[in-house]
Amino acid sequence: MNTEVKQEWIEDLCLIDDTISVGGTSKKSIKAELASYKFELQRLRAENAKYRSQFDSAPISYFTIDRLLNIHGLNSAGRKLLRYSTDQKKYQPFIAHINSADHLKIQKHVNAVMAGNKATLRTSIISDGKSIPVMLHSTPTQVPGSPGFVCQTAMMDVSEEKAAVEQLQLANNSLHHTVYHDSLTGLPNRLFFNAKLNSSLLQIKNTDKKVALLLLDMDRFKQVNESLGHKVGDQLLKEVVRRLKGTIRQADAVARLGDDEFAVIVEQVDSLAEVSQIANQIIRKLAQPYRSGCQEIFTTASVGISIYPTDTIENDELIRFSHAAMTHAKSRGSNCVEFFNNKLISLKRRNFELESELRVALRESQFELYFQPQLSLANHKIVGFEALLRWNHPVRGQLSPESFIEIAERTGVIDALGEWILRDACQKLCKLREAGFDDIRISVNVSAKQFSAGDLQKKIATIIAETEIPAHMLELELTESALLVDATSSIDVLNELRATGIEFAIDDFGTGYSSFSRLRQLPLSRLKIDKSFIQGMPVNQDDNSIVKAIISVAHEMGMEVVSEGVETAAQLDFLRSLKCDIVQGYYISKPVEFGSVLAVLRAK
Ligand code: C2E
Ligand code: MG
Ligand code: MG
Repeated sequence: MNTEVKQEWIEDLCLIDDTISVGGTSKKSIKAELASYKFELQRLRAENAKYRSQFDSAPISYFTIDRLLNIHGLNSAGRKLLRYSTDQKKYQPFIAHINSADHLKIQKHVNAVMAGNKATLRTSIISDGKSIPVMLHSTPTQVPGSPGFVCQTAMMDVSEEKAAVEQLQLANNSLHHTVYHDSLTGLPNRLFFNAKLNSSLLQIKNTDKKVALLLLDMDRFKQVNESLGHKVGDQLLKEVVRRLKGTIRQADAVARLGDDEFAVIVEQVDSLAEVSQIANQIIRKLAQPYRSGCQEIFTTASVGISIYPTDTIENDELIRFSHAAMTHAKSRGSNCVEFFNNKLISLKRRNFELESELRVALRESQFELYFQPQLSLANHKIVGFEALLRWNHPVRGQLSPESFIEIAERTGVIDALGEWILRDACQKLCKLREAGFDDIRISVNVSAKQFSAGDLQKKIATIIAETEIPAHMLELELTESALLVDATSSIDVLNELRATGIEFAIDDFGTGYSSFSRLRQLPLSRLKIDKSFIQGMPVNQDDNSIVKAIISVAHEMGMEVVSEGVETAAQLDFLRSLKCDIVQGYYISKPVEFGSVLAVLRAK
């Protein structure tokens, strides 16, 4: 029931004579009804006053805006915000309080409410010359007796909320940064890269442009990390990123996908020559020496490239193809650029097939050791042979260890294969002794995996006992990285084996990062200089100096020096002049089957 109507009734009823009955209702019952109305009226008045005081003391500004944008019924929060005193009853039009840039927005807001809609608006009011962000919630309200609506508005000061939102946005941004960026280098990470690649490919859809995906992997980064420590490794990566950023074009994107793996998305490509130029610039920049304290570090990068849409239109495949190209670049000797081509897929398939065939090969005796003689320059005699593994594949012919050792290591086949190699080498030593050559040594290459397996000492002891060869006839060749897998335990294993008489040589010296002071801790009898240094001699002065220095320091440390990869008389002569002890290489002999070993020994 409408309260105002009820009140009129009550006032009328008070005039009714006690004796009169209205419509058959007695005066008594009319009075009772009157009392209940009075009670209701008091309750409503109290409630009204309560609401009025709540309305006035509410922290939110309430007011009404009419069609001409005049303000009515401003509560005290509103007066405070709009700077009106308590006794002021006339207000400026609402628009006069609003930032002029938002006048049109305000007019639209009010119009929408006048048309019967609820509306919300973020704007700013000017209060004491300061701009305060506010939020308006307006509801259409009908005024009794007048047509249409007025705009009943609640206005909130949201400056604190805005500050909170800004803080939240900042936090969000930093969270976004953490999720999408790599913490070490600050570069976008794989997540970001995937999203970026998607958008780059979408952008050039239906155009005649291309996108090139360059995948970059640092060569021998693991060795840097293992030999010089992670701190130096991290510094190196940061420097790599600095150089990368300085090389790519501004529009291109670079991301870090893994430890030492980076991706560059080259957009809007017209020709392969353009991509090739960028990739070559990158590897040239990255190949320049890095400094860590007073030490110079040499490392390079291998780059694999695939092109969208030429090679594929699938994102995943594009990444796979670049990866295949990069792996191929590495197998070509690193520091080079390789574009994807379909042959690489067959290479991958080939590796996959080799993986399963390797297991069968050992059972079916498809492996064979070849032997490459080592010539002493002091007495011009063959003092030993390096045992080099060959796989006589029934279909593919003879395979070199470089095409399968890594697969054998990855699949664990190296355990059984390594044991077979050691046993076969010792059996061959046994045969040499029977033929009267008991001062010959056989060097066996031992991979890092065999070395870190933990049971190498036991296996060797069993084989030596079986074949009854003197332990000093067996030499194990280890690479610097094999020794660095677990540096402290490797010293223990080496010492234990050395105590039995077995000798050790460090292989491919110069390609890793071992310092001489580190080598000093190891019971090494020989140091083999990597063939990459020998091959530049005697023309390349740098190689000459490096080899000369290595020989002299190794001698100081009581080690003999073996130079591998000697291919010419000039190299041999030069090595002799540098007092190198032993030479090995095609100039002396290629690796030969065991059947020819006796002939080689007898010929010298
Ligand atoms: P490595 O131990 O440094 O062996 C020397 C490599 O250089 C051999 O390649 C040898 O054939 C080659 N070589 C020798 N003289 C010359 C030369 O004058 N010029 C050139 N250009 N090359 C020469 P190969 O037999 O293909 O072996 C490659 C690598 O595979 C070896 O390098 C060694 O790291 C690994 N490997 C070989 N046999 C075994 C093995 O039985 N077990 C393990 N774990 N790895 C092995
Ligand atoms: Mg070797
Ligand atoms: Mg070597």
